Amino acid sequence: MSESSEANSISGRDRKTRIVATLGPASSGLEQIRALFHAGVDVFRLNMSHGEQADKVALVDAIRTVEEETGRPIAILADLQGPKLRVGTFADGSVELQEGQDFTIDLSAEPGTQERVGLPHKEIFAALEPGTHLLLDDGKIKLNVEECSRDSARCSVLVGGKLSDRKGVNVPNAVLPLAALTPKDRKDLTFALKQNVDWIALSFVQRAADVAEAKKLVSGKAAVMAKIEKPAAVEALDEIVELADGVMVARGDLGVEEPVEKVPGIQKHIISVAREAGKPVVVATQMLESMINSPVPTRAEVSDVATAVMDGADAVMLSAESAVGDYPTEAVGVMNRVAIRIEGEPTYLANRRSESATQNSSTADSITAAARQVAGSIGAKAIVTFTTSGSTALRAARERPSAPILTLTPRTEIARRLSIVWGLHTVKTKDIKTFEEMIGKSKRMAIRHGMASAGDRIVVTAGVPFGTPGATNVLHIAWISGNELK
Ligand code: PEP
Repeated sequence: MSESSEANSISGRDRKTRIVATLGPASSGLEQIRALFHAGVDVFRLNMSHGEQADKVALVDAIRTVEEETGRPIAILADLQGPKLRVGTFADGSVELQEGQDFTIDLSAEPGTQERVGLPHKEIFAALEPGTHLLLDDGKIKLNVEECSRDSARCSVLVGGKLSDRKGVNVPNAVLPLAALTPKDRKDLTFALKQNVDWIALSFVQRAADVAEAKKLVSGKAAVMAKIEKPAAVEALDEIVELADGVMVARGDLGVEEPVEKVPGIQKHIISVAREAGKPVVVATQMLESMINSPVPTRAEVSDVATAVMDGADAVMLSAESAVGDYPTEAVGVMNRVAIRIEGEPTYLANRRSESATQNSSTADSITAAARQVAGSIGAKAIVTFTTSGSTALRAARERPSAPILTLTPRTEIARRLSIVWGLHTVKTKDIKTFEEMIGKSKRMAIRHGMASAGDRIVVTAGVPFGTPGATNVLHIAWISGNELK
């Protein structure tokens, strides 16, 4: 993204809720990535559970090409596989487990049979006890541990079904003695940081310490998103949100680990906690699942996207729909239209504002809250924020103002990171040194990006001295004369 991209209009992205699309075989060429971007994608997700690292290099190149063409910062989110447990393989590829039968899991590498299968994770056995439930293959099969030792567990089958090679195993309601990052995750992390991705998503986070460990390894080279998909993570949500740069409601595994009927309530709770903290929150998985094979969504899916938007999520995400589905751009188009429609509902911002943080009384928070109020009462056409670390922009977004937020930053990586955040239109600009320069640039950028014209007013917030992260202490109302570009 070059400095010349300053001149490119950001119009056409009036939507405030952001769209994340997972790339895969259905969406891996430059043409497809370009089409997805133009349909409305703000963030591309690379799922490190699938494919080879080498394939991801081409995806990153294609995304950066589209970014350069359009001048709009795009975030790349690398989603690490995490410590996902999987059974080994079977002699015949699969078995049919019957309700009531005995079935043993153990550490043996021998191919599985009707009586047993390997689970090559020795640390798990110490955490099992009689009465622990094991869920296999996305929760379709349920086992109850009857007796266990350090290398095996004899189980009874509570819910039977077909179990095939390498299916996933979930152990809900147990904090497992697993490292936050597997050796594969560490390799993928090193690779992703080398590719200058903007966000790293951590799977199967169990505790805040998992986030702390990853942040140490990432060491500021990317932002870190904690996927909330374990009951233990829901329990530790406040601490996790405090440490992470963002969170994802990873409803796929969450709906296996928790009873599915609890997922909507947990989703609302996670959104609310993240909103209060001013951290971006992504709602993920099965949002438009039927669009994997159908060009139109079900009414219930539309309602699901609408609910996430209405609840104030920063972003909604496509997984299989865009990675392996037949209608990736159509799915993005549906999300785009639903978000725009819901954001236009009269109750939309009224709901959001009631959640904005009013108790936090730091100077930066007060200035940002005041910016929304002032913009509303004088009918300002835009709120312009200068940000070095991104924190001022996050505060502005937390307020959920109706005026568009134009974020100006000298740092490409911050501009990219912020593209997952509700309502921010971020432009990379040259650094500013003086107050006059700040006002002049705010006016010019607001005009150039189609947000304001002669006779309009804009509200500008910044931290002086410039370049001090988080030190927002200035609120200025500027009037556009129309001579700014002359
Ligand atoms: C999920 O489980 O909802 C999720 C987003 O993670 P993954 O797609 O990696 O399973």
